[in-house]
Amino acid sequence: MIIDSERIASYIRSLEAPGSGLCEEIRRAALAEGVPIIRPETASLLTFFVRLLNPRNILEVGCAVGYSALRMSEAMPAACRIVTMEKDPARVQKARENFRRAGETGRITLLEGDAAKLLETLDGSFDLIFMDAAKGQYIRFLPEALRLLSEGGVLFSDNVLQDGDVLESRFAVTRRNRTIHARMREYLYVLKHTEGLSTSVIPIGDGAAVTLKERTIDPDGIRTAAEQRSREQAPELPEGQ
Ligand code: SAM
Repeated sequence: MIIDSERIASYIRSLEAPGSGLCEEIRRAALAEGVPIIRPETASLLTFFVRLLNPRNILEVGCAVGYSALRMSEAMPAACRIVTMEKDPARVQKARENFRRAGETGRITLLEGDAAKLLETLDGSFDLIFMDAAKGQYIRFLPEALRLLSEGGVLFSDNVLQDGDVLESRFAVTRRNRTIHARMREYLYVLKHTEGLSTSVIPIGDGAAVTLKERTIDPDGIRTAAEQRSREQAPELPEGQ
């Protein structure tokens, strides 16, 4: 039996319980204003990991208006803290307002700026990292994210299937999206082929990759996996060539 994946997604979505009243209000406002936020079924998986891991610290890369940070805060233990980052000033302002309204300014710290720079300034270890910023930048953020992830910690990366684009040949995606396409493929390859990482790619929402860091990761191992990926990648020819 072939089941339409759109129908599966909408059925799963119909089962989801929303977050708090405030979260629901923020979600609706974000959708109305075209702010990209986590999909309900992916939020459900993310908060499942928050409950499972019982984290002391969570790092989020890509805050937008604070919706997913607040969803995580509703699932995390009382002593847990979230550090989140956002580079768009208007979204930073809105997120700060939303954290104030939720009474979460003590547990959620929002850093304003480019995550590529901010990640380098952080120390300590995070039991859960939620990667949800510009998709083409994930591979660039990865070495720092893995440095900051605790052993036994989970890296949860959203939007890895890019509405199905990542499955396609680079010639089937629009020229505008080819760089993102190549970088996301490289990101997934590295997550799957680096010693000490264990990754599952889940076709939920826009695709989520969940990665367990089993032990300390050698940054050279990441580079090696990326190089191997470039070597193994068969040259893709346009249709008919
Ligand atoms: N996690 C949020 C949620 O589900 O509520 C949604 C995040 S949205 C998909 C991605 C956000 O990452 C955008 O608001 C964008 O401005 C931000 N962003 C993109 N690249 C970034 C970067 N290099 N540094 C910091 N923020 C970035």
